[in-house]
Amino acid sequence: MKIPMLDLNAQYEPIMDDIKAAIDKVLASHHYIMGPQVKEFEDKVASSLGIAHAIGCASGTDALVLSVKALGIGNNDEVITTPFSFFATASSIWRNNARPRFVDIDPRTFNLNPELIEAAITPRTKAIMPVHLFGQCSDMTAIMEIARKHGLAVIEDNAQGVGCTWEGKMSCSFGDVGTLSFFPSKNLGAMGDAGMCLTNDDKLAATLRQLRVHGEKPKYFHECVGFNSRLDTMQAAILNIKYDHLEKWSEGRRANAAYYNQHLADIKQIKTPWIDPRAVSIYNQYTLVCEDRDGLKDHLTDKGIACAVYYPLPLHLQQCFKELGYQKADLPISEEMAAKVLSIPIYPELTSTQKEYIVESIQQYYQ
Ligand SMILES: *Cc1c(COP(=O)(O)O)cnc(C)c1O
Repeated sequence: MKIPMLDLNAQYEPIMDDIKAAIDKVLASHHYIMGPQVKEFEDKVASSLGIAHAIGCASGTDALVLSVKALGIGNNDEVITTPFSFFATASSIWRNNARPRFVDIDPRTFNLNPELIEAAITPRTKAIMPVHLFGQCSDMTAIMEIARKHGLAVIEDNAQGVGCTWEGKMSCSFGDVGTLSFFPSKNLGAMGDAGMCLTNDDKLAATLRQLRVHGEKPKYFHECVGFNSRLDTMQAAILNIKYDHLEKWSEGRRANAAYYNQHLADIKQIKTPWIDPRAVSIYNQYTLVCEDRDGLKDHLTDKGIACAVYYPLPLHLQQCFKELGYQKADLPISEEMAAKVLSIPIYPELTSTQKEYIVESIQQYYQ
């Protein structure tokens, strides 16, 4: 048996006719940049998430870069964030000439540990950027309390968490701005790169809209130097179709997680994901903490089961951030998790046979 991390064939098969029709409509109109499908998608996401403004852009990375810029952060300002995330979380800060200040994570959720944030605040700190890693919302109650107390902005990197909630409230609705990625492997994936900023702040929304079109207002008059970072019409048309299936897909992922939780519970060498009772996860990943992780990884690979390490090297130890001065053992939980985590297939189209095979293969390794 061969099981991929994500089966895009299975995902697209039932909706491909609808997608082709939507693409054909864009082709017939030749309205490739900022066509009506872009606003349609923005409105759809904003209203369904209950957030005032959705601003489409070229990628999840750009959504973060635009957000940092729109908040006026740069010039050696500091942004507190997690070292246990995809690279773009930190690079978006760096590319605005600001400095990421890494704070260690809670080993149970892999998310920023709010108890460690206040000690990292300096006079240069301008914002906190939590990541809702693997589809589970960070502790936004604690993070917003700290942000308010110290007058800091909050940018939610929700690239992996579209639709996840905290205490019944939607991710991206806590901070000043939240971002989404529609990279093809995210829960809501485009057929290429695409991203989005979400905010309830009218002024910030206007700035983000301006920044994505070179900072122009009106056309050909530039108040500031912005970017070329629009959401492609074709991608918006595709996402419009796929968005209507998202909730059902997230339910499928949660059902698969429940199956794994039950059937992997007795293996004492692994820990299944812990979801805070205040959070509803969308399981962008199902991530185990394992003894002898690399051995298990090789075993599953031999069995034809794809699995992946997200992420093998925490951001504070990346070579490109050397000048920040972090050393090994500075953020021990992130470093420990980088050595122990393994994500296994969780996509909603997994069949019962596939799930059984994955569970049996993990059991077999530790027996
Ligand atoms: C995927 C991802 C991004 C970047 O999104 P792209 O659309 O690939 O640019 C940023 N942050 C996190 C946590 C991600 O997982």
